[in-house]
Amino acid sequence: AKRQGKNNFQIYGSYVRGMTNGNLKLETLMHKALEQQELLLLYQPQMDAKTNTIYGVEGLIRWNNDELGMVSPQEFIPVAEETGLIVPIGEWVIRTACKQNKEWQQKGLSPIVVSVNLSIRQFYQSDLIEKIDAILKETQLDPCFLELEITESMAMHADTAIVILTELKKLGVKIAIDDFGTGYSSLNYLKRFPIDHLKVDRSFVKDIQVDDDRDIITTIIALGHNLKMKVIAEGVETKEQVAFLKKAKCDILQGYYYSKPLDSKMIEEMLLHQS
Ligand code: C2E
Ligand code: CA
Ligand code: CA
Ligand code: CA
Repeated sequence: AKRQGKNNFQIYGSYVRGMTNGNLKLETLMHKALEQQELLLLYQPQMDAKTNTIYGVEGLIRWNNDELGMVSPQEFIPVAEETGLIVPIGEWVIRTACKQNKEWQQKGLSPIVVSVNLSIRQFYQSDLIEKIDAILKETQLDPCFLELEITESMAMHADTAIVILTELKKLGVKIAIDDFGTGYSSLNYLKRFPIDHLKVDRSFVKDIQVDDDRDIITTIIALGHNLKMKVIAEGVETKEQVAFLKKAKCDILQGYYYSKPLDSKMIEEMLLHQS
């Protein structure tokens, strides 16, 4: 069953996976996840390639349920999309990330950007801009320290996406295109989107030994720079990858080579050590 609230632009429906019986159980348990505080946000450092200091962190959600154990976001985000629960969950993610980032700043740590992933349903929710604006005011985080990640495929309805992205930019937040290279964005639109960062998908970083993939990464970095964007590589795991990406002038590096996603305390310690 497809439930589309009046609040939504009517265009995401075809993306979401069909409901299966297995998901019904997930759905029931997920309803309680928010109120019972089973959700947590981890943060993965993003390193400035030039200075080797932390540029920012990406917030990545975790769901720890008594019965199911740790459920991967790859499993529950699609279900949350389908049921609409992604809207309150997504709002929780943004609020938690902003609050945490403000807290780090209030402790005198050097300011960093916190990025959060927006799901497609959240992105096309008509009150998205008001909600983000309200959270920024409530947490008193300077908007330039919040970054929103959307995927290429989410922006496929380019005319609507451009309106939303422009409104978001007016708030002063940063925008990143996630998983870049895996969707099919029109370069023509990309040029018109107010985007700060391109995140090269992990699949291209993975086989940096393969010549063809090197060419793709080099091309994406050049494309991003030509469009006045910074380029982030994700899934960076080896020192060979780091060396190649630095040589190719990739701006920001993220991956297990530097750190797994960590809890807020551990990020705080990393920030303390670097200042
Ligand atoms: P993503 O946005 O592409 O996030 C990157 C994923 O790659 C994360 O998986 C991260 O833990 C993992 N990763 C980071 N470095 C490495 C590495 O060096 N090697 C490898 N193999 N993997 C690495 P995670 O946390 O399981 O998240 C999976 C996906 O779930 C995310 O992909 C994102 O699409 C979604 N997701 C996570 N948190 C949220 C959220 O708060 N909201 C929404 N809407 N989606 C989320
Ligand atoms: Ca992401
Ligand atoms: Ca990604
Ligand atoms: Ca991905």
